[in-house]
Amino acid sequence: MVAQNNTSHTDAIGRLVQELNKLPGIGPKSAQRLAFYLMRAPHEQAESLATAILTLKQQIKLCSVCYNVTESDPCVICRNSVRDASTICVVEQPQDILAIEHTGVYKGMYHVLHGAISPTEGIGANDVRIRELTARLNNGAVKEIILATNTNLEGEQTALYLHHLLSSVGIKVTRLARGLPYGAELEYADDATLTRAFEGRQEL
Ligand SMILES: [Zn+2]
Repeated sequence: MVAQNNTSHTDAIGRLVQELNKLPGIGPKSAQRLAFYLMRAPHEQAESLATAILTLKQQIKLCSVCYNVTESDPCVICRNSVRDASTICVVEQPQDILAIEHTGVYKGMYHVLHGAISPTEGIGANDVRIRELTARLNNGAVKEIILATNTNLEGEQTALYLHHLLSSVGIKVTRLARGLPYGAELEYADDATLTRAFEGRQEL
């Protein structure tokens, strides 16, 4: 009986370690450290962490216009009438919007693809939100599309595909300048680099 209790005790920690280990950037050692930290932390702290995770899953949805994560639909950016609706900046992930907004250099709209085209991983144009992007161009209000996909292979392939697709409908298509190092993920770019890349964007 005692052995069983010990097992279940270990199981509770083991289960948490296993879950934490699934998070990006958290290896087995860090997962174990966090699990033991939480075990010793005040009950309220553990509860508020668990509640924050559940609230996130219950309240966050995707904006039906730009597919950014949001608590209200449309999101605050799409609802903001002061922003320039004639420009759409296309990014791979919602985190990229945070990075760009942080620079304050851009005042237009966004579109989140939720991924990038990657033939090697079997991800085609229909697996990211490209159709949703082209549907936004039907009313003729959009004059420029800024391609801000990552500068790695998948990001470049996606930009190339979108360039071919969009230039045929007569919309100006620009790509962020080469200030961003090759292979860079937008969300980790610093403000100065990202601002330079935006200001130096070039027509494709
Ligand atoms: Zn939106």
